[in-house]
Amino acid sequence: KSFGGITAVDGVSFEVREGEILGLIGPNGSGKSTLLNLILRLYEPNEGRVTIDGVDIRKVTRDSLRRSMAVVFQENMLFNMSLRENIRLGKDGATDAEVEEAAQLAQIDKFIRMAPKGYETQVGERGLKLSGGEKQRVAIARAMIKTPKVFLFDEPLSNLDAALRGRTRLELAQLHQRLGATMVFVTHDQIEAMTLASRIAVMRDGRIEQLGTPEEIYNEPATLYVAGFVGAPSMNMLQAVIADGKLAIAGSDVRITLPARYAGA
Ligand code: ADP
Ligand code: MG
Repeated sequence: KSFGGITAVDGVSFEVREGEILGLIGPNGSGKSTLLNLILRLYEPNEGRVTIDGVDIRKVTRDSLRRSMAVVFQENMLFNMSLRENIRLGKDGATDAEVEEAAQLAQIDKFIRMAPKGYETQVGERGLKLSGGEKQRVAIARAMIKTPKVFLFDEPLSNLDAALRGRTRLELAQLHQRLGATMVFVTHDQIEAMTLASRIAVMRDGRIEQLGTPEEIYNEPATLYVAGFVGAPSMNMLQAVIADGKLAIAGSDVRITLPARYAGA
């Protein structure tokens, strides 16, 4: 996918497994949101295709595509109406029971139960003042009520403070366990990806640099870029040469005997 002269997503090919959380990480501008928007069909690719359950998303009506996917962004519009109605917006004709179930799963139900029906608002002097985390939970409930095939998250926790981010991350993990839903989770926070995702794709300049389990990404980085991006504190890098089956660190007397699998390198 390119915009004018800029290639935002470049020759990317991957599969998201049913029921997994695929984490997409990478610095700002690496193409994460563009990739998500391609899956949502908000953007059309210049080349290539997106399939869900083997069906090209261009062959599906926009309405049914919209029903099959739910998305939570970093900032989500909450409307000046009750939380119930904000959640109900996720699905045409959703019943009260469905709204309450979604609210319960997203752990925002105490707010809609506390206030008499119709009185709970998202902001305002007499209404509830929702924190950032609570607003995100309303957005998550609104996404869930669709019971979509695919959940897409674009940095949903980035606006929350550290403690709340940790807690909401945990709740999302529990939610995923309960729903067993397929999720694509974009974040620039590697810890978020390492703790939530079953597999992680590390993006750089529109390409996927490595795709693997958190353990693979962490223990066996495929490139120096991945090695430098993952891990806190970050990995030290030293120049070295291999001589006589040993690693000689440049500018020092240090010689390290290599594990057998590298001896021939
Ligand atoms: P990320 O989400 O990883 O921060 P984006 O996918 O938003 O990255 O952006 C990737 C690249 O594509 C950036 O260089 C960005 O400026 C460019 N880009 C994204 N969306 C548009 C757009 N609608 N028009 C022009 N350029 C865009
Ligand atoms: Mg983005």
